[in-house]
Amino acid sequence: MKIEIEEKIYAEFPNLFVGNDIPNSPMKFGCCCCDGWEENIRDACKMYQKWEDKYKHGLFFVQVKEKFGQLNMRWTFTNKEKLDDKALKALWKIDEEVLEKSIHTCEFCGITEDDSIDTRTDHFAGWVRTLCEPCRSSGKTLKHK
Ligand SMILES: [Zn+2]
Repeated sequence: MKIEIEEKIYAEFPNLFVGNDIPNSPMKFGCCCCDGWEENIRDACKMYQKWEDKYKHGLFFVQVKEKFGQLNMRWTFTNKEKLDDKALKALWKIDEEVLEKSIHTCEFCGITEDDSIDTRTDHFAGWVRTLCEPCRSSGKTLKHK
């Protein structure tokens, strides 16, 4: 993802990205997905922020990346006390929503609700990616950055 986009998102949700400067954090690589998922990440941040506003547990991200064609946003907490089941289940529900939405959004161009969007291996690269057909056949680079 372009650094300008990442920085905009970090500025919008500063508390969710307080871990970015922790030494050896995978966040030093930024959001490891393509620009088409910008709104997915922003929407996800809104959901996680809402959760944090309710449960106040110091949630922040340790990794944001594309994995097997899905958007993965891994989190941890500044508060090390055990989280109650209700809060944890609410968090897992957000994780599921984020994954589900990403497999219906082209990672390159961000188009949604398009029948050609598919999560599968690209014959030319061996990577599982979620792309619309025009992007898939464009031969565009599969690099995240
Ligand atoms: Zn596309």
